[in-house]
Amino acid sequence: MSIKFEILKKCKKTKARLGKLFTPHGIIETPIFMPVGTQATVKAMTPRELEDLGIQIILSNSYHLFLRPGHSLIAQAGGLHKFMGWKGAILTDSGGFQVFSLGKLNKINDEGVSFNSHIDGSKHLVSPEKAMEIQMALGADIAMAFDECTTYPAGKYQVEVAAQRTVQWAKRCKEAHYSLNQSLFGIVQGGVFKDLRIENAKKLVELDFPGYAIGGLSVGEPKSIMYEILDCTVPCLPNNKPRYLMGVGAPQSILEGTIRGVDMFDCVLPTRNARNGSLFTSSGKLSITNAKYKDDFTPLDNQCKCYTCQNFTRAYLRHLYMSKEILASTLGTIHNLYFMSSLMKNIRLALLEDRLLEFKEEFLSNFLS
Ligand SMILES: [Zn+2]
Repeated sequence: MSIKFEILKKCKKTKARLGKLFTPHGIIETPIFMPVGTQATVKAMTPRELEDLGIQIILSNSYHLFLRPGHSLIAQAGGLHKFMGWKGAILTDSGGFQVFSLGKLNKINDEGVSFNSHIDGSKHLVSPEKAMEIQMALGADIAMAFDECTTYPAGKYQVEVAAQRTVQWAKRCKEAHYSLNQSLFGIVQGGVFKDLRIENAKKLVELDFPGYAIGGLSVGEPKSIMYEILDCTVPCLPNNKPRYLMGVGAPQSILEGTIRGVDMFDCVLPTRNARNGSLFTSSGKLSITNAKYKDDFTPLDNQCKCYTCQNFTRAYLRHLYMSKEILASTLGTIHNLYFMSSLMKNIRLALLEDRLLEFKEEFLSNFLS
């Protein structure tokens, strides 16, 4: 089966929607935050821990899995779900973003991108067709079209060329994609230029993808510009299809994205922060290695019901981080993902009860980043 998207309720005061996304690996309640499992693992978490946290969908990176261990090996294992022992849904990105940001680039032309692996320097060419071959072999529930990302800041001409190429590549991705159990989403590019975003969104909508992502944001531009781009891009996307804002996971940005009509978010931030000792609490970010927590025998967040907060103190967590114990990463990640899960649950509940703006105000008045 391919995905099916149902909108249960629309917010009366904002563009937010409460929805359900039906996938071959379960139903996802939207708006949703997707933790990132770059190397076919959400770092420091077992799939069982993710299930216990109520995680419904994770994101994995084609670029990394293509280079190591190779998509053919994962296909041989029975696909990514079986390979990593994850029963929930998976979305794979196309590798576009990583090819541009991690690989040593040789050449970008209409054919695709040639680059050298960041692992061993080996040469590769990823084209739209290759990106589809890789993602079909991985077998995620949702695959992404291969797009050209530009950095920020970038000149308008450069962004325009990349956006036009993204449309051409999206067409080729659609032609090359034939998996029945996987839905292919298009990605809107166009940098911080409103006219380019609108034009790009319209062209991609003509190609009729089952879902749309907004890419190329959260790459260093001010937040206010990101929100302006969402304001002009989201209304160009079909109402009845899921909308995914790529690489955005800061709680404030998720709230701002949600009220602008975005349904899906992903970011390495909560898990990466957790491994670095930067932990979310209801009153903002806390750096657990700070000396003031040395003999603090209270929980990390006394309002949190996660396993970490129910069983351990700040003093113990600080000790684990200071001694570089691997349990630090696990306990920190459990807490940060629980925090994100709770935030999304609260957003959905507020949407259901027609008080999303009130919730946003209340949340942000406590959460000092
Ligand atoms: Zn907690």
